[in-house]
Amino acid sequence: MSQYWSELTASLVPYVPGEQPKDQRYIKLNTNENPYPPSPKVIEAIQAATNADLRLYPDPTCEPLREVLAQYYGLTKEHVFVGNGSDEILAFAFPAFFSADRTILFPDITYTFYPVYAKLYGINYETIPTDEQFNIDARQYGIPNGGIIIPNPNAPTARFMLVDQLKTILEANRSQVVIVDEAYVDFGGESVVPLVAGYHNLLVVQTLSKSRSLAGLRVGMAVGHPDLIEGLNRIKNSFNSYTLDRLALAGAVAAIEDQAYFENTNRKVIATREWTIEALKPLGFQAIESKANFIFVTHPERSAPELFASLKSRGILVRYFNKPRIDQYLRVSIGTDEEMEAFVSAVKAIL
Ligand code: PMP
Repeated sequence: MSQYWSELTASLVPYVPGEQPKDQRYIKLNTNENPYPPSPKVIEAIQAATNADLRLYPDPTCEPLREVLAQYYGLTKEHVFVGNGSDEILAFAFPAFFSADRTILFPDITYTFYPVYAKLYGINYETIPTDEQFNIDARQYGIPNGGIIIPNPNAPTARFMLVDQLKTILEANRSQVVIVDEAYVDFGGESVVPLVAGYHNLLVVQTLSKSRSLAGLRVGMAVGHPDLIEGLNRIKNSFNSYTLDRLALAGAVAAIEDQAYFENTNRKVIATREWTIEALKPLGFQAIESKANFIFVTHPERSAPELFASLKSRGILVRYFNKPRIDQYLRVSIGTDEEMEAFVSAVKAIL
C-alpha cells in the first residue's frame, strides 16, 4: 500500500475490466463489443469534425446530441443527459440520487461496477437474491430502501425482465430513484423509456457501446424527468462540465441518425446469438435465455475455468468470473457468424 494514499483509496477494491489483449489474433468474445464496425456515417462525421475547431472547447451542454436523442425517444432534450459511456453516467447518478445514510438495492448477481460505485461514495447496499436460474423477482424490491439499480437485461447473466415486472418495482418505490441500466436492451429486450412520462423517479441509462458499435467512442445517455437530469447536471458540472469531446459528439449524432444501419446489425447479432445457443445445446451446454449481445452458458460435466483456458489456448477469448454462484459459467459475447462457428468448433474439439 502506498504511504501517500488516502484511507479511501486504500479501502477501494476497484472494478476490473475485461482483458483487451495486444495480440490481435484472438477471436475476442470477452467484453461484449459489437463485432460489426460503426455506421460509415459515423466515421464520416468524425472525419468532418477533425478540423481546426478542435482548438475550441466542445458544447458543454451537448445540445445537438441531446436534440437527436430527444427526437429518438419522443421526449424533449430536458429529459436527456449524455456522458462518456454509461459508466460515467452511473458514476454521476450514484452521488446525485443515493445518500450515504439510506441503503440501496440491486441484484446479488449483477454488473460489478455497482458495488464499486457504492463503496466509492460511501453508500450502503443490500443485494437481493436472484433464483437458481438468475431470475429477478420484482416483489422482493418492496422493502424499505434508498434507491434501486437494475440492469435489464442483466449482466453477466443475460436474464431480462418484462416491463410489467419493472413497473411493479417502480410502483412500490415512488419516493426514491430507480435506475434501469439498459446497456443491452437493443438486442431484443423491452425498454422502459415509455414509462419515463409516468414515473418521475425513473432514470433509464443506455449506451452507444454495444448496439451502435461505439465502445471506443465512450458515449452513454440517460433519460428521465427533467428534475433527475438536473441532478445529473449538478454532479457533472461539479466535476467536468465538458464531458463529451467534439469528435464523440459528432460521431454520436451520426450514429443515432443512422437507424437503418443500427437495426440491421442488431438483427444480425440476434440471429447469430440464437443459432449459437442451438449449436451449444446438443454439446450439453445449458444457456440462460438471452436478450443481450452475449450468452451465459454452463456445462454440467466440464469446469468453466478449464473451458476458459482451453478456449484461450485456441485463440478464443471469453469471460470467466471467479465468483460464488457463477464460477461454472462462461459469458460469451456474440461475434460474427464466422467467429461463432470458430467458437463452436473449438468447444467441440475440447469436449
Ligand atoms: N452497464 C452494464 C450492465 C454493462 O455491462 C456495461 C459494459 N461494461 C456498462 C453499463 C458500461 O458501458 P459503457 O460505459 O461502455 O457505456
